[in-house]
Amino acid sequence: MFDFVIAGAGFAGSVLAERLASQANKKVLVIDKRNHIAGNTYDFYNNDGILVHKYGPHIFHTNSREVFDYLSKFTEWRPYEHQVLASVDGQLVPIPINQNTINKLYGLNLNCEQVNDFLKSKAEKRDQIKTSEDVVINTVGKELYEKFFRGYTKKQWGLEPSELDASVTARVPTRTNRDNRYFTDTYQCMPLHGYTKLFENMLSHPNIKVMLNTDYEEIQNIIPHTSLIYTGPIDSYFNYCYGKLPYRSLDFKFETHDKEFFQPTGTVNYPNTQAYTRITEFKYLTGQQHLKTSVVYEYPKADGDPYYPIPRPENNKMYKQYQLLAATLTNVYFTGRLGTYKYYNMDQVVAQSLTLYKKIVHDDASKEGIAFKPFAGGIDTKITKFNFDADDAGAE
Ligand code: FAD
Ligand code: UDP
Repeated sequence: MFDFVIAGAGFAGSVLAERLASQANKKVLVIDKRNHIAGNTYDFYNNDGILVHKYGPHIFHTNSREVFDYLSKFTEWRPYEHQVLASVDGQLVPIPINQNTINKLYGLNLNCEQVNDFLKSKAEKRDQIKTSEDVVINTVGKELYEKFFRGYTKKQWGLEPSELDASVTARVPTRTNRDNRYFTDTYQCMPLHGYTKLFENMLSHPNIKVMLNTDYEEIQNIIPHTSLIYTGPIDSYFNYCYGKLPYRSLDFKFETHDKEFFQPTGTVNYPNTQAYTRITEFKYLTGQQHLKTSVVYEYPKADGDPYYPIPRPENNKMYKQYQLLAATLTNVYFTGRLGTYKYYNMDQVVAQSLTLYKKIVHDDASKEGIAFKPFAGGIDTKITKFNFDADDAGAE
């Protein structure tokens, strides 16, 4: 008899498996319908011996010391700060838009203050910032919106930016300095031996068994378990009783080139004419030395594996119905990007599962009448500074 079955061996499920097994001495069965662990962060060496990410490029970044310290138990890191160029008007210019972008695009030589004035003169102030269109037009105006955001967003989501929550394009800031980095988080690094290795270390505990190529549905009535943690799509768990939650999918096209480098930086974005949104060259991310190089093109599509929850009011409303239904179940928990229908980065998913672990332990203690130990509180899963004492949660 297992204490927990965990459906999904991505970050959401594996963090909980590791915590429950190592800290609470629970017997855990992790299952995944795919033939590998690590969820969408799965990486492997391709036929040419180059480390690639099967489900698109994954760059680790976080402001949470707790998340960073926790994952550091399972991997060493390679410092890496991602830089992205956008192909606009026949040039490659930095995105997020910054001083270098404006100067290159318009053939200017503005300083920080002048770029600020330039953007102010272009921006069209909106009273309310509700949609992804509002965010961008309010900050940089229509012209830059058309060049960098509208086409990319339409491709990526199959929707106009005005049909998407503000949070989507708000992921990409605008700067007036010359910082060309894609992220500004405190911790920016890649697992030194890859994500899959990190997961192997995380799941290597005598209390954890892993079963691959298995859908939860196949074993739910066969393998006895007290509790379930479900990290697949929440609507599928409930047989779509309130309807299908929309997800956006991608096709990945991999290429290996017989030269050391293919493009000038880790990722090049193609906001406009091409059918793909971006090309990523893995060697920049992994630091691998190799005479050849592998890249991946991302082609967005409606059907296929559910990669992106689509943040917009009607979808959030449907998710709330599923969330309410989930709250009526005992010993069933939902977490992760698909389980909670949230456009979360890896660190946010790790933080969310660490928080859920604390809740489960707390509920367990209350049930068994063990002296009440106050629940230390949630982890802020927004992209802000985290004020957590790493020794408080997550530490052994
Ligand atoms: P997943 O990794 O999707 O894991 C869920 C697992 O559950 C899957 O393996 C699935 O097979 C399994 N499953 C589902 N249903 C069932 C079932 N019924 N039975 C058994 N198994 C089931 N984040 C970053 O921080 N940085 C990045 O650079 C970044 N890049 C990304 C690029 C792309 C193209 C995508 C799609 C995402 C990216 N992310 C990035 C987000 C990151 O992938 C997620 O935050 C993270 O992987 C979510 O982990 P998860 O465990 O919730 O979900
Ligand atoms: N975006 C854009 N142009 C860009 C980069 C991003 O319009 O050059 C918008 C687009 O809607 C995208 C969103 O900003 O989906 C978030 O970008 P991010 O790079 O964070 O996407 P992810 O890595 O999650 O696919």
